Amino acid sequence: MQDSGTNNEPTIIKTDVDSQNGQEKCPKCGSTDISTNANTGKLRCNFCRHEFEAEKVKGLVENISQLQGQVIASGATDIVADTKDILTFKCSSCGAEVVIDTSSASQARCHWCRNTLSVNQQIPNGSIPDVVLPFSVNKETAQAEINKFVNKRKFYANPNFKKEFTTENIMGVYFPYMLVDINAHANFIGEGEHQTRKYFEGSGNHQEAYYDADLYHVEREFDLTINGLSIESSLDKLNNTSSNKTNNVINAIMPFDVENSVKFNANYLKGYTSERRDVNIDELKSIIDTQAKDIARFTTNKTLENYDRGVAWSSEQMNIIGEQWKAAYLPVWLYSYQEVKGNKKVLHYVAVNARTKETMGSIPIHKPKLLLMSFLVEILGILLMLFIDWDLSFIFLALGFIHYFFFYLSYRNSNARHTYETDTKNSMDNLRRVDNFLKSKKRLRNMTMDGANNYALSGQNLSNKILNQFTGKNISNTVVNTIANNNAVASFIKDEIDKK
Ligand SMILES: [Zn+2]
Ligand SMILES: [Zn+2]
Repeated sequence: MQDSGTNNEPTIIKTDVDSQNGQEKCPKCGSTDISTNANTGKLRCNFCRHEFEAEKVKGLVENISQLQGQVIASGATDIVADTKDILTFKCSSCGAEVVIDTSSASQARCHWCRNTLSVNQQIPNGSIPDVVLPFSVNKETAQAEINKFVNKRKFYANPNFKKEFTTENIMGVYFPYMLVDINAHANFIGEGEHQTRKYFEGSGNHQEAYYDADLYHVEREFDLTINGLSIESSLDKLNNTSSNKTNNVINAIMPFDVENSVKFNANYLKGYTSERRDVNIDELKSIIDTQAKDIARFTTNKTLENYDRGVAWSSEQMNIIGEQWKAAYLPVWLYSYQEVKGNKKVLHYVAVNARTKETMGSIPIHKPKLLLMSFLVEILGILLMLFIDWDLSFIFLALGFIHYFFFYLSYRNSNARHTYETDTKNSMDNLRRVDNFLKSKKRLRNMTMDGANNYALSGQNLSNKILNQFTGKNISNTVVNTIANNNAVASFIKDEIDKK
């Protein structure tokens, strides 16, 4: 299919071969009024109700284990800066000239005869992708999901927000993504620990936990195929740690069933808005390759059950044999609300995946109310600590803080994200494993192995680093820190309870 294994030139596969610009007519009645049936995700003639069979994109590599070199679908090729956005067509029904501004739409109606004209052939300005995943969740269903999400989070919500909240104006948006298939060979080498004994020494309140463990030399070498790893391809939505837009909640509604994507056709966009792609493969490749390595690392965990104290990989090799890139529009129902705090504005989103109904959002918080309630809870905690005789009564002291952070996170969901490392389709083949006993270790103080990194994630850090270069701002990695802190607190409490 392609011969790029020997050189570094990418193979470009044209995906818009049979696409026609201009009028597209219903084969039954000739009407150009065609749009998506949001119950089936298929195209339908609005005049005679004829439904069209979805067209699949042709020419791409289907068997990812055969993928070699870099394969790029033509809609994912680099954006050309001076591409004209304005296209003019002659209406084939009445001969009038129809203008389409492709920066905001790929369809327009003829003013004279009301026929619809579409742009389906790719123009290198990022507005025409290779594939589209049609809306299959209708507006009413999305409204119900958003209402359900918001109604659970009303008590501490900002009073203005509560007054103004309505799902009337939610928007159906096609956001641009890149879908990447990867064929790789991975080799992980390191050491793992298996706990053999846990015991306590000392007396009363001075008990200390100790662990004995067996140390092994561990190797996992395997072929890995990854299908449809998805990443935002607009600079704005890529910025998941923006302080004035809650983009991370849109990121969190992934994954989409991208395997059901169909060939792009402008009729799918009718009735919805779309945002065009403004980043190229070069800018996304390092994020994708690092996320692919994270997927490889998480895939090995299925083979590491014996190492309950963790595995410390000292060598992680990931050789990417082939990579295939497609540009896609994926469907999202979006509610947005602008919160104004002094001169700071924060745009809150509630987003619904218009394929899976997965919903995530950010609700503006009424801070004074949350602080007051947390303060009252804290006082209650102090009273409980004074009057209840329990060795762990110090936990009561944290109640106010726990209350605050629990509600802060469940309203703002600032830690929500796409868990690509476990949610991306992949398959591990031809596994070679080595598990050689090295030695027994005694009287260890930590409940997990020193330097264990088999659950480490680097993709999230990396995308922030790259964005920092774009934005010049320093974005802290709240996600990783939150996970790390939660684990530390959880293992501390677990240890304290185990002692009893
Ligand atoms: Zn028709
Ligand atoms: Zn016309």
